[in-house]
Amino acid sequence: MDDLRELYQATILDHNKSPRNFGAKPECSHRADGYNPICGDKLTVFLALGDGDRVEDVSFEGVGCAISTASASLMTEFVKGKTAAEVEKDFKSFHELVTGPPAETLDVPGLGKLAVFSGVREYPMRVKCATLCWHTLRAALEGDEQPAKTE
Ligand code: ZN
Repeated sequence: MDDLRELYQATILDHNKSPRNFGAKPECSHRADGYNPICGDKLTVFLALGDGDRVEDVSFEGVGCAISTASASLMTEFVKGKTAAEVEKDFKSFHELVTGPPAETLDVPGLGKLAVFSGVREYPMRVKCATLCWHTLRAALEGDEQPAKTE
């Protein structure tokens, strides 16, 4: 378990140092701002949706702690190519992962690399850091800036 923790820690540090999909994409049709006042994390998620509400492109920019930046980085990698409905499911699984009882198994199936955030459940103050990007992504999915599409 200690080895696993070290691996998780290293992954978070790596994504904080070199965040993936980092940078504004003003050409994207959807965007939303997120703010976590408890820690001071701020980010903007940019989103391009294709047919069937599939995530064609997603990026983020902002300033925050290591957890919030790494979470946004890993999230953008994770949701690319998925549909809005799948993203909603992933959000629920991720939320479970970071808020479950600390003693439970760290394994939440289907989340891949996002499992690195399982340790966050031991630090309730950090849960909002880890979930900020997801809340922002959901807001971007809902806030369609393009002319309204038929459902
Ligand atoms: Zn934070």
